[in-house]
Amino acid sequence: MGGRIIDLHTHTMASDGTDTPAQLIEHAVEAGLSSVALTDHDTLDGLAEAEEAAGGKGLEFIRGCELAIYDPTFGELHLLGLWMPQPSQRMKAALADIQARRLRRNQEMVRRLCELGLPLVLEDVQAVAGGKAIGRPHIAEALRRKGYVTTIMEAFERYIGRAGAAFVPRELSSPREGISLLAEEGATVVFAHPCLDRDMSGEVLNDLLADFRGFGLTALEAYHSAHDAKSVRLCVRLAKKHNLLLSGGSDYHGRTKPGVRLGVGKGGMRVPYQLLETLRDDRRRRGLWV
Ligand code: AMP
Ligand code: ZN
Ligand code: FE
Ligand code: FE
Repeated sequence: MGGRIIDLHTHTMASDGTDTPAQLIEHAVEAGLSSVALTDHDTLDGLAEAEEAAGGKGLEFIRGCELAIYDPTFGELHLLGLWMPQPSQRMKAALADIQARRLRRNQEMVRRLCELGLPLVLEDVQAVAGGKAIGRPHIAEALRRKGYVTTIMEAFERYIGRAGAAFVPRELSSPREGISLLAEEGATVVFAHPCLDRDMSGEVLNDLLADFRGFGLTALEAYHSAHDAKSVRLCVRLAKKHNLLLSGGSDYHGRTKPGVRLGVGKGGMRVPYQLLETLRDDRRRRGLWV
């Protein structure tokens, strides 16, 4: 069945997407997907609803999440955990800590926005969000609802993007901490969209992969909405070299990223079904649940 469409990177309102988990499943069925992973940022809260909604629909559901790490050369990088189990005490504590850091950071960005003459309270931001993983996309939407900006892009450019006047960086764990947290949980650990927003040279990615593999990385997300053909080729080549598996997904966020559709990204993305079989085989070989 070469026509099977899969998507191993999606978001819902549990983080910064706009679908409820049940709506994500509805949309995945409409898009004709055979498998979908929900990988919300910093929370597992959407998984139960999505898993339940997927039951009996002929759609395979994979429990996932997305965590950010900090590398001194690149800044923020992202990991996906696929086949996330019910969280261990350690994982629960780690997620609670990440969410607490987000809260403090959001408070600081709100404070800076007020100083810049844009009166705003944290409740305005929380009113936009559906879950605990609240961040800049929600602040941007709150600014838009207040009429301070016309578009989300303007909010990032003027205020909360990297160069914005109210930007506060996140406090993130190291690659070793983030990768081992997910690996020790028994998840399949994926380095997400290495070429998103950066011109990643082969040499540099090569060195990163050597380190990350040593920490417990399983796979590289070669297929992604923001990866052009050249980035895909680079990822496939280096994954092979480092004995890493491949993964792929659209990074669907609903209306937060209007141009990105389930299964096809901006239109041209196709994630080979075989890579999911290979990820599963690897888990079976390692005695992990699938
Ligand atoms: P946070 O995790 O709170 O730092 O927010 C990061 C999210 O903001 C990313 O996942 C993007 O989806 C979104 N984002 C970052 N920069 C921009 C931008 N310039 N325009 C729109 N969304 C952005
Ligand atoms: Zn997101
Ligand atoms: Fe990401
Ligand atoms: Fe994502």
